[in-house]
Amino acid sequence: MSKSLQAIRGMNDILPEQTPLWRYFEATVARLLDNYGYKQIRTPIVEFTELFKRSIGEVTDIVEKEMYTFEDRNGDSLTLRPEGTAACVRAVLEHGITGGGQTQKMWYIGPMYRHERPQKGRYRQFHQIGCEVFNLDGPDIDAELIVLTWRLWGQLGIRDAVKLELNSLGTSESRGRYREALVEFLSAHLDKLDEDSQRRLKTNPLRVLDTKNADTQAVLVDAPKMADYLDDESRTHFEGLKARLDAAGIPYVINPKLVRGLDYYSKTVFEWVTDKLGAQGTVCAGGRYDGLVEQMGGKPTTGVGFAMGIERLILLLETLEQIPEEISRQVDVYLCAFGEAAELAALTLSEKVRDQVPDLRLQINAGAGSFKSQFKKADKSGALYALILGDDELAQQVVGFKPLRGQGEQQSIAFDALAAHLATCIVQG
Ligand code: ATP
Ligand code: MG
Repeated sequence: MSKSLQAIRGMNDILPEQTPLWRYFEATVARLLDNYGYKQIRTPIVEFTELFKRSIGEVTDIVEKEMYTFEDRNGDSLTLRPEGTAACVRAVLEHGITGGGQTQKMWYIGPMYRHERPQKGRYRQFHQIGCEVFNLDGPDIDAELIVLTWRLWGQLGIRDAVKLELNSLGTSESRGRYREALVEFLSAHLDKLDEDSQRRLKTNPLRVLDTKNADTQAVLVDAPKMADYLDDESRTHFEGLKARLDAAGIPYVINPKLVRGLDYYSKTVFEWVTDKLGAQGTVCAGGRYDGLVEQMGGKPTTGVGFAMGIERLILLLETLEQIPEEISRQVDVYLCAFGEAAELAALTLSEKVRDQVPDLRLQINAGAGSFKSQFKKADKSGALYALILGDDELAQQVVGFKPLRGQGEQQSIAFDALAAHLATCIVQG
């Protein structure tokens, strides 16, 4: 028996019924980012594996166990991108567009790939929209990134459902000193740590802080605090950020255990979290990565950015029923035609109307059918109006114009007057 064809586990089709919500979301974010002066960058979905090893870090979850890595026909090791920052850094270096200290404010959108256990809000192909800013090192730009996401939550109607968590990881020097203190402390309690944390203690000790294990969490209560190890520069930066968020009226909580999964962060880290989606509650996450560009072989170039998970935000819109009514209506006018001559006239008439009203969403009936069946399709399409064209109308060079959602009586409109009539109906619609 042949196995039926299926998509890969954790990789989803987004069906025609779902795409209007996706497109609304994407258009809302794109417009907002344009308005804040960010420009889109588009990079390949596949990169050399080395890029992710060097940027994300060898001992992170992503590089250790989540990447889709394969050899191409040349024997090169390639990887489907698990995130967007690495490629942005590679691109700015490759094209030299930050090397002279130029500021770059950019954004990207697209699919990302991680071999994780699929569950609600966690997939193997998922989509992110992210921003990266290069060569601006002050807290003002960290604040701008947070302020613009806050505005986005407002536009999407989900502000009340998300909470901002903030932390500062300091510079790599102060984080190094903190790491030493943490390792010393945790090593003295090694037997009380869960297995994963024991392993992380050797490879990536800061990640022990975001363990879900209750016993390890109990040990952490008395662990040294990152805030006590912050250098003056990072402290001033963090205060500057908080002052701006206060001025903008954006509520936040300081989460000293927020470390983020990637190696490259420094100073500011933040996450927007919701309690409406179960375990997969982080909808947007980011931070500053001042050392990354240099680590990748560039001149010292500061960076800060975030990425939001589109699937989780779509789920949140659905959960909170924040789906604008107009996006579910894809058709303004449905044209029914009866008989060969009327069908031909319908085609030329509708093309003329489209010339004159380019934004009109006009669906023309296909596949003929009785009056009753065409009307049923017109109604199901969600259109506001049906146009009716049969032999009688054709003889008089008019169309029947029938409101489908209870606004007024059916009337006859001359072919010549149709475009203007529809233009007013739809604009006022
Ligand atoms: P998590 O802790 O949930 O695994 P992460 O720290 O690995 O998240 P990032 O690499 O910071 O996530 O990615 C930014 C955002 O992308 C996340 O906050 C989330 O909204 C989304 N995201 C990450 N991994 C997935 C996934 N496998 N499926 C769906 N969305 C994801
Ligand atoms: Mg993850």
